[in-house]
Amino acid sequence: MSGGRRRIYMDNHATTPMDPRVLEAMMPWFTERFGNAASRNHAFGWEAEEAVDRAREQVARLIGGKAKEVVWLSGATESDNLAIKGVLEFYKDKGRHVITATTEHKAVLDTCKALERKGLARVTYLPVDRTGRIDPEQVRQAIADDTVLVSIMFANNEIGTIQPIAEIGRIAKERGVLFHTDATQGFGKLPIDVDAMGIDLLSATGHKIYGPKGCGVLWVRSRGPRVRLTAQMDGGGHERGMRSGTLNVPGIVGIGAAAEIARAEMAAEAARVGAMRDRLQAKLEAELDEIYLNGHPTERLPGNLNLSFAYIEGESMLMGLNGSSKGDHPAIAVSSGSACTSATLEPSYVLKALGVGDELAHTSIRFGLGRFNTNEEVDQVADRVISEVKRLRDLSPLYEMAKEGVDLKTYFAGASH
Ligand SMILES: *Cc1c(COP(=O)(O)O)cnc(C)c1O
Repeated sequence: MSGGRRRIYMDNHATTPMDPRVLEAMMPWFTERFGNAASRNHAFGWEAEEAVDRAREQVARLIGGKAKEVVWLSGATESDNLAIKGVLEFYKDKGRHVITATTEHKAVLDTCKALERKGLARVTYLPVDRTGRIDPEQVRQAIADDTVLVSIMFANNEIGTIQPIAEIGRIAKERGVLFHTDATQGFGKLPIDVDAMGIDLLSATGHKIYGPKGCGVLWVRSRGPRVRLTAQMDGGGHERGMRSGTLNVPGIVGIGAAAEIARAEMAAEAARVGAMRDRLQAKLEAELDEIYLNGHPTERLPGNLNLSFAYIEGESMLMGLNGSSKGDHPAIAVSSGSACTSATLEPSYVLKALGVGDELAHTSIRFGLGRFNTNEEVDQVADRVISEVKRLRDLSPLYEMAKEGVDLKTYFAGASH
């Protein structure tokens, strides 16, 4: 509740609300149990270290890794940075080629670009198909003698598309190349087995799994092969020298608790959230024409629904939904497929990579359902979206013309001369 107006949160790819059970687990570590996990001389330090090690177990169990392979840091952005920069720096004598994809999160793409700019890496950005999937064969073909690392995300944060991770892992293994995955969106939502999937480094964060912000994980394989990396933060040599800095004990306890809950409830939650997502999609498709799914119809995160609503500006729709328009509707939090960069509204680079045209990309909305959404909220959101789309299309001369059978491609081609 805020200002008396009801709010519906359906943007769970951006962040998730904290689970009250997670907060409860964290609380004592802010107050009476405030020790530094690196203090070896007294019980304050020992109990903090024990709590941190318990959280390592909880995170490792969720992905089939070992507790000692978990490195704590500030979030998935830092985790992606350390994985890519750290590996490239350590293995610089082997080569400097990285293979990634055009639809990766900025934390991966901008890290690669920074390395390229400094002359520290040569990067191949693989294209994706219309559904956002990588063809593993393209990974095989891209591997060269100087390839050190393949970095492909587990599931996409905009369109939810899940990558063929095990196939990519197998190819990387065959060719003796390390495999990093930004698993931020898949971690805690989808089954992950680092051994079966051939993953060597994995990035994740607390705040996308109903845990705290500002606390994340880099999992680093210790055997078969033992992965090495060069620390990017110099200092006290914490985390086996991979990441110095006093540990955020409450945050780490929080990720551990969130991972434990995710593991216990994953199957049931995926089914429940997936059913709500399908209900939303079915309701919208039943009432609206000219809407298009972005992403993969089945290989998709359970909570993800990314749709283009032709003839509607996504930004106008957001304004209508999030409560900046008049009325006593609940304010609905979703995201659009455009990002405000400087003065211009750029269509999402992820949608572009799928081959979605700029026009249609500007009409897209990402719904991100999660643990705390309800069917009642789904119905309210569906009703609001349907009436907003109908209202905006009633104001759209283009929609009118399309319905009257005017070929808009010809119309636009004519207009531009
Ligand atoms: C949210 C997100 C990140 C960034 O995570 P932070 O913990 O906020 O730094 C990185 N990658 C993906 C895929 C994400 O969804």
